[in-house]
Amino acid sequence: MVSQLANMVEDYVTSSRKKYALQAAPLSDAQRSVMQPFFSSAVLDSARLCVLRGTRVSNPPMYAMAKMMGIRNLPDFAAMTAITFVDVIVSHQEFTNELLFHELVHVAQYAQMDLKEFAARFVNGFIQGGSYEEVPLEKMAHALEGRFSQNAVETFSVDDEVRQWREANAL
Ligand SMILES: [Zn+2]
Repeated sequence: MVSQLANMVEDYVTSSRKKYALQAAPLSDAQRSVMQPFFSSAVLDSARLCVLRGTRVSNPPMYAMAKMMGIRNLPDFAAMTAITFVDVIVSHQEFTNELLFHELVHVAQYAQMDLKEFAARFVNGFIQGGSYEEVPLEKMAHALEGRFSQNAVETFSVDDEVRQWREANAL
């Protein structure tokens, strides 16, 4: 069941990425200079941003099946502030630095694992934790976003953090 769901997440991420890549743009110079102390240039170069106006991201077609499997608490992507599909960040509101930081952590996570691994970790984390908020990939992004918003002067490498969490098998 986990691998079946992970395959569906992969498909959803791939097709959404393709869909929104066309209307997404690189970080502005101002955004880049704020993020640069924390993220590698590979992450900052690859990230593309897209702000949706008058429309929202749709939930994955797999939801019907997941519900039939008895899975509850499925995350409502349409209600989320923003979602990252590999390197394409889709937001329902204008980017603040905190929001951008959070989503770039996901870009850095995706960059260190392939989509297959990301999807498997996401589904496993969801099933074990019981909710989107309990997915370790998500908890990590929240923790690092918190560090950034409390103190943007004390810099750290998000790439190193992702590597450490992954090696410690905490993701
Ligand atoms: Zn997140």
